[in-house]
Amino acid sequence: MSDRLHRLLAERPYLLADGATGTNLFDMGLMTGDAPEMWNIERPDQVESLHRAMIGAGADIILTNSFGGTRYRLKLHKAESRVAEINQAAARLARRVADAEGKRLGRQIVVAGSMGPTGELFEPLGPLTVGAGADAFAEQARALAAGGADVLWVETMSSTDELRAALAGAGTTGLPVVCTVSFDTNGRTMMGVTPVEVAAFCHEVAPKPAAFGGNCGVGPAELVAALVNMADAELPGDVIVAKSNCGVPYFVEGKIRYDGTPELMAAYARLARDAGARIIGGCCGTTPAHLKTIRDALDGYEPQARPTLADIVARLGQVSRGAESQSAGEEPPARRHSRRGRRGEAAT
Ligand SMILES: [Zn+2]
Repeated sequence: MSDRLHRLLAERPYLLADGATGTNLFDMGLMTGDAPEMWNIERPDQVESLHRAMIGAGADIILTNSFGGTRYRLKLHKAESRVAEINQAAARLARRVADAEGKRLGRQIVVAGSMGPTGELFEPLGPLTVGAGADAFAEQARALAAGGADVLWVETMSSTDELRAALAGAGTTGLPVVCTVSFDTNGRTMMGVTPVEVAAFCHEVAPKPAAFGGNCGVGPAELVAALVNMADAELPGDVIVAKSNCGVPYFVEGKIRYDGTPELMAAYARLARDAGARIIGGCCGTTPAHLKTIRDALDGYEPQARPTLADIVARLGQVSRGAESQSAGEEPPARRHSRRGRRGEAAT
């Protein structure tokens, strides 16, 4: 493969993905309730400065400010007719900074077009069909590709139906696609999907993701535990992604905050590497300062044996009962994703 992501993966033991987008833009003045994606049009200087700061902290991969850029999410802000404009702008800003900073620093920076959930439930739980979802993701993906994205980055997913729709939509561009899910509910996604099921799904779905793993969620301990639980289902050549929130989310004066220190994120990064991740970054709450400590913790670091859950608890904090019981083999085996059953697969 000759795309930028695969070239870098072939050259380096690991790649550093960036930190948070939304929470950092809130710190720059974005108001609660406003769509971060509108800043690609209204405050491009701020979006560019965040990209620049993440690259300055060592990021090899930056995600575009387009997480909520499907027509379904933009509809909440009466901007559903502006999918192409907003996503192209997001990718152009990231591309411009990646090229300029990459040239200045003498390294290649991958621009990943972020694609988050539609916010809609899929059939039979809700109104959206996989086909309609795929159309919406394709619309977003085409705009991100037109703006210069190297890869499409499907993230914070919960349901395999939506993941299937997003991968199909992203795949229409011909660009590599990365996907990550959020293990935020007792060791599973909100829709009940286990780490083992995610790996099995990613091995069978088309197009096959270039990399997959976990992002966001309820803190680094839980994310690394999910990767450890996923490991049994991995195949040689799988590229695993870890992009954890910066500690555990909590509320102060109605605002969501994250308690992760730079030291915690450094410990998380090494454990994620030990757990097999080759693309590591942060999600909500992760500032450029946190990202810099992750880079420093990983550069020159030789991965150790895969951690046990006890190691994870000792260094990162508690993990859920669900993650523990999966680790102990007390959960039912992964659901089979047969090729024949692909179309009619129940929502998980
Ligand atoms: Zn997040």
